[in-house]
Amino acid sequence: LHRPDRARRAVLFGLFCLVGGALLQILAARHPDQVEAIYARQVFPHVASVLQRLTASCPWSIGEGIVLLFLLYFAIRLGFGTLAILQRTSTVGAAFKSLTRVAVALVGPVYLLFLFTFGLNYQRNDVGKILGLDIQPPTIEEVESLAMDLVVQCNSLRPKLREDGEGVMRLARGRRESFSRAREGFRVASRRLPILAGPCSTPKPVLASSAMSFVGITGIYFPFTSEANVNVLYPEPEIPFVACHEMAHQLGFAREDEASYFGVVACRAHPDVEFQYSGALAALRHALGALSRSNPDAHQRLLQRLDAGVCRDFEAFRTFWKRYESFLFTVGSSVNDTYLKSQGEAQGVESYGRLIDLLVAERRAPVPPR
Ligand SMILES: [Zn+2]
Repeated sequence: LHRPDRARRAVLFGLFCLVGGALLQILAARHPDQVEAIYARQVFPHVASVLQRLTASCPWSIGEGIVLLFLLYFAIRLGFGTLAILQRTSTVGAAFKSLTRVAVALVGPVYLLFLFTFGLNYQRNDVGKILGLDIQPPTIEEVESLAMDLVVQCNSLRPKLREDGEGVMRLARGRRESFSRAREGFRVASRRLPILAGPCSTPKPVLASSAMSFVGITGIYFPFTSEANVNVLYPEPEIPFVACHEMAHQLGFAREDEASYFGVVACRAHPDVEFQYSGALAALRHALGALSRSNPDAHQRLLQRLDAGVCRDFEAFRTFWKRYESFLFTVGSSVNDTYLKSQGEAQGVESYGRLIDLLVAERRAPVPPR
């Protein structure tokens, strides 16, 4: 971007992509049926499959590498800009203008690429409609009954699992090994739900997991490489669930609550007890959260029925988040919230509660899923 005409052209191209992407997103939001039929069912599976074929054999997250390179690039530019200002060969205004130009030239094409490789999935039909579920807001009794069943499930699965020195559930063969087994849950679940038969690859551990913990993120799907990335510092009881949640994004389910729902579905279908427990525990955590706001008495009653091992696992999550609670955590959560809202998830982070709507809705179905 040295010659002024080239710089201007790059900025114009960036703006063109930005406007084009915004128009595409508005159009897509008005036609979810078409997005479902054309993009989500026809185009996206091919895009994801090609990307996964390119990235799956690398044991590390290529997406993480790309993010780090980007950060490094901006840090170097910032460093040189600051140096030029200090040496008085540039001014703050000129440096700011140059950085803005680079940002506009990059953001537009990246945004368009994001929509093509994944982002349009935010505008597909909602899972309730895809599965033909009755998505009425659940009653308090329905949530309590769901939570009660989950308590029974967790209590019966928990004694079959291993524990660490602190009495917290431990994955018998470690986190990485559970990543390679995660796909089995989707394979079994897809017999009943063919929509889960799409391409997905083994999730990958994030090297910068502590940075992720500080911003309050347990996993992240990198759309440009179709990689499911997992925060490997997160307590083991929910690692299989987080892996399956990220894999649901690989299958084209963009909204958080829907990815979590299919994460629970895949864990439930998985032949391995560790996965079954992990999915039930995540669902129970959400159900208890919903009850603690709407029906504190029921919430207390259910807590008293929990197996001591399940309680220790819940405690492990509390301890984990306490360790990483920080200013950045608040910033990270609000950035994530803004991102979700920008993709048409009107409820932002709050929409994690809609997992419960789906879990209740499937119980109302004439043939309840196993
Ligand atoms: Zn997610």
